[in-house]
Amino acid sequence: MSDILSNPEYYIGLEEAYGAHNYKPLDVVLTRGEGIWVWDVRGKQYMDCLSAYSAVNQGHCHPRIMDALIQQAKKLTLTSRAFRNDQLGPFYKEVCELTNSHEMLPMNSGAEAVETAIKTVRKWGYNVKGIPQDKAEVIVCADNFHGRTITIVGFSTDDTAREGFGPFTPGFTIIPFGDAEALEKAVTPNTVAFMVEPIQGEAGVKIPPPGYLKKTREICTRHNILLIFDEIQSGLGRTGKMLAEEHEGVESDLTLIGKALSGGFYPVSAVLSNREAMDVLRPGEHGSTFGGNPIACAVGRMALRVLIEEGMIENAAKMGDYLKAGIEGFRLPAVKEVRGRGLMLAVELHPEAGGARKYCEKLMYEGMLCKDTHGHTIRISPPLVIRQDEADWALERLHKVLKEA
Ligand SMILES: *Cc1c(COP(=O)(O)O)cnc(C)c1O
Repeated sequence: MSDILSNPEYYIGLEEAYGAHNYKPLDVVLTRGEGIWVWDVRGKQYMDCLSAYSAVNQGHCHPRIMDALIQQAKKLTLTSRAFRNDQLGPFYKEVCELTNSHEMLPMNSGAEAVETAIKTVRKWGYNVKGIPQDKAEVIVCADNFHGRTITIVGFSTDDTAREGFGPFTPGFTIIPFGDAEALEKAVTPNTVAFMVEPIQGEAGVKIPPPGYLKKTREICTRHNILLIFDEIQSGLGRTGKMLAEEHEGVESDLTLIGKALSGGFYPVSAVLSNREAMDVLRPGEHGSTFGGNPIACAVGRMALRVLIEEGMIENAAKMGDYLKAGIEGFRLPAVKEVRGRGLMLAVELHPEAGGARKYCEKLMYEGMLCKDTHGHTIRISPPLVIRQDEADWALERLHKVLKEA
């Protein structure tokens, strides 16, 4: 029996037989995690260089977050928003103070936060800006990733995400990412908002030209349209700042956070509002059974506290620079570009190197779990608690695998 339970093929077989096939994961079956490390069912240890797409910024099974989860689970788990709970108010206050926001609205998944923002800016457009009924337009960027609902995939430019899922929600205009002039041109009298990722994560860690966020802020203000930053992946320390928008000293009207808001324990997301946009929502107009539940709030409060108290944001900036310089220092012919900010890093390979998935499999063999994206890019984003000796360990393995390319 124990032989079966330590055999990855057993679990992979079950997934293949009974699960929907909407993912194609690496064939590693994990059973335990601690900090930047995870272990598979055979006992082999790996460095996690994906961090569940930045949901475990604080490291796997962070003891203080775990304790907050357990203590709250013993006391009160769910009230629904029909009643109040003693975790929600403090969660609001702490998140707003740490992110410089006025108000927030809690949800669960990132996609729900995106949907919430879209509903909010549409309502704002009708109630405040005076746009004719059902005419509101939201501008978004090509190569965006904002989630998987029908509305959201409807304004994706990724055919795999869209094909076969229509008809889609109207009211979205797509412009190139990083092009402020395109935004200016796309604005119409019915535009209510512009939504953008400060760094495009799923697109392969695409960083816009310097000054872009500032220009979008200026254009949105001038045309009286709301600026939405989707920081579900780039926020909460990943890029070496609490929010990536801080790199350009820009404030949005709505900022979306999720993923690391729970340190990977639980789905917790939120819409943060820097303006009275949120006040257009009246009781009954939007909600979620689990949104703002006591466990989510307790976990979220501690996930933010440890980010700050344990210096993880500064460490992300420092270790990010260190890893980036280290990989650039390889000077390997297979590497086309190393991109990133803080610990949101990507290595783009030349097409002749033959696809990033192959190298992710080799890295897995060497004890490093990385994720390929868009064919030729390997993402490197370990939890923010990585130390320099561990970064050196990762650099050694990366060098070994990439020099074979
Ligand atoms: C992951 C992600 C989302 C969606 O979050 P889910 O929790 O998977 O719904 C939205 N926006 C960005 C930028 C993301 O990285």
